[in-house]
Amino acid sequence: MLQDIDRILFSREQIAARVHQLASEIAATFTDTTSGVTLVTILSGSIIFLADLIRNLPIRMKIGLVTVSSYKGATTTGTTPRLLKDLDLDIRGDHVLLIDDILDTGRTLRLVQNELQALQPASIHTGVLLRKSTAPADIHVDFVGFDVEDVFVVGYGLDYNDHYRNYPHIGVLRRELYQPQPDAAS
Ligand code: 5GP
Ligand code: MG
Repeated sequence: MLQDIDRILFSREQIAARVHQLASEIAATFTDTTSGVTLVTILSGSIIFLADLIRNLPIRMKIGLVTVSSYKGATTTGTTPRLLKDLDLDIRGDHVLLIDDILDTGRTLRLVQNELQALQPASIHTGVLLRKSTAPADIHVDFVGFDVEDVFVVGYGLDYNDHYRNYPHIGVLRRELYQPQPDAAS
């Protein structure tokens, strides 16, 4: 695994410190709501981020999980994302915080945001651990862990072909491992 990583962008210590700060920002935003917050998390890349974030968040919360189809082995979302698993949670009237691992084109976040909106929550905030420099400027995200350049990152929950999720840092995958094939969907 280690030999597949070109360089570390954020070490586990840097991530832990930033997640701690983010949790404080989030807690401050939701302290006034008596019902607390409903965290809706997009699987599977966000699992470790979610686990660390919630243990730094001493506020009342519910957690819901959704699954969105994404790239399969390619480095970018090749097709329009689809919701594969609905939310098993009633969020009507809730203050929702939608969490994803990384914002790239913004299609995933936009899709889930629209789906959630239809369930009539009181409010929807958004948070991502990473935001790529190529993300469209018109996509507003309330909480951002780190801004990153347009490279393919793995680790801390993020995968490539379902591997590397357990790599404890956030690293850049060696380019020859993820270079799209000439016949791959764009
Ligand atoms: P978007 O819909 O914003 O283009 O893409 C967001 C989704 O694509 C993320 O939830 C993540 O699953 C995947 N993704 C985008 N960029 C990367 C990346 O650099 N590394 C990994 N592992 N996944 C990525
Ligand atoms: Mg994802």
